[in-house]
Amino acid sequence: MEYSRGAGREDRGAGGLERSPLLEVRALQKHYPNIAAVRGIDLVIPEGICCGLLGPNGAGKTTTVEMLEGLTLPTSGEILYRGQPCGADFRQRAGIMFQSTALPDLLTVRETLELFGAFYRTTRPLAELVERCALEGFLEQETKKLSGGQRQRLLLAIALVNDPEVLFLDEPTTGLDPQARRNFWQLVHSIKAEGKTLLLTTHYMEEAAELCDEVVILDHGKVIAQGSPQGLLRNHFENTVLTLPAATVAEYHDPQLGGPEVLGIYREEREVEVITNDIGCTLKRLLALGVALDGVAVRPPNLEDLYLELTGHKLRP
Ligand code: ATP
Repeated sequence: MEYSRGAGREDRGAGGLERSPLLEVRALQKHYPNIAAVRGIDLVIPEGICCGLLGPNGAGKTTTVEMLEGLTLPTSGEILYRGQPCGADFRQRAGIMFQSTALPDLLTVRETLELFGAFYRTTRPLAELVERCALEGFLEQETKKLSGGQRQRLLLAIALVNDPEVLFLDEPTTGLDPQARRNFWQLVHSIKAEGKTLLLTTHYMEEAAELCDEVVILDHGKVIAQGSPQGLLRNHFENTVLTLPAATVAEYHDPQLGGPEVLGIYREEREVEVITNDIGCTLKRLLALGVALDGVAVRPPNLEDLYLELTGHKLRP
């Protein structure tokens, strides 16, 4: 399937309004002695959007984000904040929720927020942070006694403690149960509604589709696609995904199931996915083969299909 790099770039927010760039990255590279982790990335992140950084393990997401956060020095390239090179002041305007942060076990939630607040010139009132991150009821609890979801909400509150303009969220819902994950998404929506700019790293395509106005897919240290989730799907796919129970087609080989209109057949333990650009033709072939069509589901492609299409279905080493 064809796709164009950078197809669908739209410097527009959810409301379709032109937005000025908050962060710009030009020809960014990071070379370690044994690997080029980031190999020339250009990005524009408009103010007030949630931008998702996606990509397989080792694609260069963390390295890119760490350079943006000022934690890792680029080998070459430029990072601009409101059109100016990022200086020390940027750290006062940015909030970072790391993948894992060691918290002092014996401090309470209140003491932890006060401790982190002391690092910044400007801080958000504690009551506002507590309300925004749904921490009522846990303020006097020691951090070691928090559940996974409560801990992530505290880490979010820590990232917001300086009332940042830009917020980096690095895999914020990894390890959360589905309810806690959805609850966290609601908090992110409310932070977006305040007009903050977010850069979210995630391996969950559903999360990216839910939260991101724009996504950037990285692989092998390069941007392989970027744009709004809907725009990317429009540009990349004119096809349909047909899902069959694996047992239904176990006796048929791929060449029997696929004709010229079939773009891919992916077999998993329980299901087989057939990507087709002519659903009628594919269904006719299945009927002609005698495949029972009960249990067949038809859906439009989603961000996960696009991601797998662009980065491949094979497990990364
Ligand atoms: P994941 O999804 O697994 O977190 P990622 O997309 O964030 O992956 P990075 O952590 O940025 O990927 O790593 C990109 C490449 O750079 C990997 O091959 C990694 O091993 C390598 N790398 C990262 N940090 C260092 C380092 N400090 N020294 C040497 N190599 C590194």
